[in-house]
Amino acid sequence: MRNRKEALYKEIELRSNIGVEGVRFDPNIFKSVLEKDANIAASHNCMDFSLDDTTNVEIPGGFRLDHGIGVQLNKNYRSPYYLEEEDGTIYLKNDGVVLSKIEVTKASPIYGKNTSDGTSMKTIVAAGDGQYGDKQILVAYSNECALKDKGLDCLFCNINATKDRFAEKEKIEWKNPKQIAETVKAAYELGYNHLTITGGFIPERREVEYYLDTAETIREYLGTDTFNGTACIGAPQDISVLEKYKEAGFSTVGINLEVWNKDFFKAICPGKAQLCGGYDNWIKAIDYAIQVFGVGNVRSNFVPGLEPKEYLLEGIETLAEKGVVATAALSWVPNIGSKLEGHRTPTPEWHWDVQQKIYRILRKYGRTFEQVYNATPGAILLHDFYKVEDGLLLHKNV
Ligand code: SF4
Repeated sequence: MRNRKEALYKEIELRSNIGVEGVRFDPNIFKSVLEKDANIAASHNCMDFSLDDTTNVEIPGGFRLDHGIGVQLNKNYRSPYYLEEEDGTIYLKNDGVVLSKIEVTKASPIYGKNTSDGTSMKTIVAAGDGQYGDKQILVAYSNECALKDKGLDCLFCNINATKDRFAEKEKIEWKNPKQIAETVKAAYELGYNHLTITGGFIPERREVEYYLDTAETIREYLGTDTFNGTACIGAPQDISVLEKYKEAGFSTVGINLEVWNKDFFKAICPGKAQLCGGYDNWIKAIDYAIQVFGVGNVRSNFVPGLEPKEYLLEGIETLAEKGVVATAALSWVPNIGSKLEGHRTPTPEWHWDVQQKIYRILRKYGRTFEQVYNATPGAILLHDFYKVEDGLLLHKNV
C-alpha cells in the first residue's frame, strides 16, 4: 500500500508539472478515440489553458495516468513532456523515458443529452468523468467578461479571447436559467452531486438577479430547497446581498481574490479592485460570507505564480484560519489572448511546493475533503492530496 501511495504522490507531482508545462503531441494520436466518441473532444466554455492554438484541431479534455490521477490536456510545443502512440497505446514520456501509460478521459454521459430547446448539454456544463468520485459539474453561464470593454480585465484571464476563438465553432452561448436547470436535473439523475455556477462580469453587475433566477429554476426542477451549489461571485458592494444567495438555495459561495497582496491585486485584477468596492470590500465580503454560509462553505481561489510565494501563502493561511477553503485550482500559465501572454510562469518546482503547502495549511485548519469538494468546481489537484491521505484512492477503480 505504501508503494501505491508513493506512486500516487509521483503522479500528483506529474499532474502539477504538466499543469505548468503543458504537453506536446501530434493530434492524430487521438483520431481513433475521437472517432469512437466525439464527445471526448474538449469544449471551451470558459477559459483555454493551451499555450498552442488548438482552434483547428480536436483534442480530448484530459487523460488519466497509470494510478488514476487526472490531468488536463494543455498543448504546448515547447514542453519537455510529450505523448506518443505505440501499437494503439498512448504513453507519456520525457526525454525518451516512459512516465505513464495514459487513458483518455471518458466523456460524461451528460454530454450526449440535449435540453428541451435542442441545446447540447455539453455546451452548458463541464462535467467530471465520474471516475474516482469526480461527480461535479460546472456551468459558466457566460463565456465573456464585461471588464474587457473597460480595459479592466484580469491580466491572466483569456475568457474573451477564448470566446472569440472557440464560441462559434463549438456553439457556446449564454445560458438561460431553464437550460441550466434542465441540465442540472439530468446530471443529478446520473449521480452528479455538486454544481458550480460561474462566469465573467455581467454589464452593470446584474449577476445577483441572474443567480437568484437560476437557483429558483433549479429548485423547481429538482423539487428540493437546496442543491449543493456554489455561486461564484464578485464581492458585492452591499454585502448583505450574500444572504439572498443563501436563501436562494446555494450552499457555498466562491469569492475569488486571485492574488493576496493588495498592490498586486490592484495591478493584476484592476476591474475587481475598482468595481467591487476595493480590496478591503473583498475581504469584508469573504468575512461576511463565512458568517452567512459557515466555516468550510466559502471558497476563495488564487492563481499561483502571479505574486511572490510569501504573499500567496500568507493569504492562504490568513483565510484558512478564518475557515475559508482557500485554493489554487490551476497554476498560472500565460495563456493565449491574456494580457500576460508570452510571459513566463515560475518553475514547476515552485508550483509543486506551493500546492503541497496549500494542502497542509487547509488540513492544519481542519478543512475536510467533503468541504473542499463542495466548495470547488471540479477535480482540482488539491482533491488528489485529500483522496490519497484519506485512503480514497488507495484502491484502483473506486
Ligand atoms: S473577473 Fe477577471 S478572472 Fe473573472 S472573467 Fe473577468 S477578467 Fe476573467
